[in-house]
Amino acid sequence: MQSHDLRKSFLDFFKNKNHEIINSAPLVPEHDPTVLFTTAGMHPLVPFFLGEDHPAGKRLANVQRCLRTDDIDEVGDETHCTFFEMLGNWSLGDYWKKESIEWSFEFLTKNLNIPVSHLAVTIFAGDMDAPEDTESKEIWGSLGIPENRIESLGKKDNWWGPAGTTGPCGPDTEIFFWTGNGKPEGLPSQNKKWVEIWNNVFMQYEKTSEGSYLPLKQKSVDTGMGLERMLAVLNQKDNIFETDVFASLFQIIASNSDIKENISSNKNARIIADHMRAASVLAFDGVYPSNKERGYIARRLVRRAVRAGREINFSSPEDFALLIKEVAKLLTPHYKFSEQAVSEAPDIIQTEVKKFLNTISDGLKFLEKRINNEPNLLSGDAFEIAKLTFFMFETYGFPIEVTYEELQKQKPNLDIKSVDVLVRELFKAHQEKSRTVNAGQFKGGLADHSDQSRKLHTATHLLHQAVRTVLGEQAAQKGSNITPERLRFDFVHSKQVTPDELKQIEDLVNDQIKKDLKVEMNIMPKEEAQKSGAIGVFNDQYGEMVKVYSMGDFSKEFCGGPHADSTGQLKSFKIEKEKSASAGIRRIYATIS
Ligand code: ATP
Ligand code: MG
Repeated sequence: MQSHDLRKSFLDFFKNKNHEIINSAPLVPEHDPTVLFTTAGMHPLVPFFLGEDHPAGKRLANVQRCLRTDDIDEVGDETHCTFFEMLGNWSLGDYWKKESIEWSFEFLTKNLNIPVSHLAVTIFAGDMDAPEDTESKEIWGSLGIPENRIESLGKKDNWWGPAGTTGPCGPDTEIFFWTGNGKPEGLPSQNKKWVEIWNNVFMQYEKTSEGSYLPLKQKSVDTGMGLERMLAVLNQKDNIFETDVFASLFQIIASNSDIKENISSNKNARIIADHMRAASVLAFDGVYPSNKERGYIARRLVRRAVRAGREINFSSPEDFALLIKEVAKLLTPHYKFSEQAVSEAPDIIQTEVKKFLNTISDGLKFLEKRINNEPNLLSGDAFEIAKLTFFMFETYGFPIEVTYEELQKQKPNLDIKSVDVLVRELFKAHQEKSRTVNAGQFKGGLADHSDQSRKLHTATHLLHQAVRTVLGEQAAQKGSNITPERLRFDFVHSKQVTPDELKQIEDLVNDQIKKDLKVEMNIMPKEEAQKSGAIGVFNDQYGEMVKVYSMGDFSKEFCGGPHADSTGQLKSFKIEKEKSASAGIRRIYATIS
C-alpha cells in the first residue's frame, strides 16, 4: 500500500462514520505562543477539548503535518522522524470508548487486513488518581484480542495530559503491531518488535489546581496514528524509511553520493532525507533558517543534514535543492502551503547550504593552519584545545562534534572527554554573556508584572528548594499562586510539617536572601535542562527551548519568569501558615517584606 491510498482510506473510513475532514494546521501553531511547533493532530484542537464549539462539528478527522524536534537524536533508528504525518480522528463530547476502539479495530483488521494475531494493546493500569481502565480492556477482549496481548501500564505509558498543570486528561490505549519475523511473542513493554502504531486517548478527567481528578462533563476522544509507521507495517518493512514517502528522496541521495546500495539503511542518508523533509515543510510554512527561535531549528536541521551529507559525499547545494523540490512534489497535493514559500524554498535553503559549506571549508583551513603552526597544541593543555573548539563554534558555526572529529583525525588518542568538560564550561559562560545582552529585550515583557510579584515569584523558587532540602526531594511543587500580598505554594508531603521544619525552611530561604545571590537566566533545550538537574513542573506546555533560572548553587528551576534581579531584593521571608491542601499535598502561605 502507498501513502496516498492510506491517507485516502483512513479519511474515507471516518467520513463514512460521519466525521468531518478538517484541514491540517500549519507546523507553526497559530494561537499558541508557548510551543514552537505542532507535534500532534490534537494540538490545534485543544480549545475545542476545553469546551469551545468546533465549527465542523463533534466528529473530526484529518492528516496533520507534525514536527517533533525532541525526537531529533532518534532519527536514523527504525521508527522516528522529526517531520511526520499523523492520521487522527476525534470525538468532541460525542462517541466514547466503545466506538473509538471498535472503529480502530475495524479499520486495522478489515480495511487494512492486519491479522489480529499481530496486534497487542496496552491500557491504563490505574493508580491513586484514577482506577484501571477496565472499560477499554473489556472492549478489546470482546473484539478478540486475547488476554495475553493486553498489557496494563502506569501513567508514564498510558495516560495523557493535562496539557498544562490543570485541565482535561485521561487514560489512553495504545495499539501495537508485531514487526518481528517469527511468531508474535510477549507484551509491548517486553519486546521491541512490538511497535506502537495508534494511540487512542480518552479525556475523562479534569485535573484541578488542587491536584485532584474530577470526572469531566464533556468527554472526548483523541487518536493519532503515524502515517510512515503504518505504511512500513502494511508493506512488511521493519523501518519507516522503506516507504514510498521516502523512496524518491533516497534515489536523489543515492545518485549523488558514495552510497549506491541499501541507501535507506544508511544512517547518514536517513538523516539527510528526514531533516530535509522537515526543513522543507518548515520553509513551506514560512519558517526559514535563521538565528532565532523557530528559524534556528530550521538552521540546525539543514546543518545536520549537510554534516551527514559530507560523510557520504552528498554535498552539492544543488542536490539539496533537488530534495526540497521533491518534497514539494510529494506533499503539496496533500497540504495547503504558501505558494510563494514553496517556490522560494529551494533557493533559500540552497543558499543556506552553500553558506554553511563555505564556512566549514574556511573553518577546516583555519584549523589546519592552527595545528600546523602550533605542533604542540594537541598534546598540550586541554583548556587551549577547548578554547579552540569554542572558537570554531563561535566563528565558524562548527558543531563541537565536527571539531572533535577533525582534531581526532590529527591525533587519534586525544582525550576528548577532558576537553569536552571544559568546552561545556565555556558554553555556560557564553550563555551568561548573551543573557546580559538580551536583558533589554526581555524588559518589554516585564511591564505588566509588578515588582512585588516578581519578588514573590523568586521567593517561590527559594521556598521550593528549601522545602526539598529540609523534607526531601519527593516534596515537589504541585501548584503555586501569587497575589500582591503573599505567595501560596503546594507540594507533595504526606504529613503536617512540624514547626521546627518550618523554621528550618524559613531560615534557609532567609540565608539565601542575605547572600544576595544573582538571579541568572539561561535558555536551553528542554532535555539539557532536565539533565542539568533543573527542577520544576515539566509538562507539554513548555516548548523545545526552556528558560532556566538559577540562584547561586542553591536553586535551579525552569519557568517562564519574570524574576527579581537578585535575592537580596526580597529583604526577608516569612512563612505565615501551613495546612493541608488535599490528600498528600501541603500548602504554605508566605510573605516578603
Ligand atoms: P514513541 O514512543 O514510539 O516515540 P509516541 O508515544 O511519542 O511514540 P504518540 O505521541 O502517541 O507517539 O504519537 C502517535 C503516533 O504518531 C504514534 O503511534 C506513532 O505512530 C507516530 N509517531 C510518534 N512519534 C513519531 C516520530 N518521531 N516519527 C514518526 N512517527 C511518530
Ligand atoms: Mg515519542
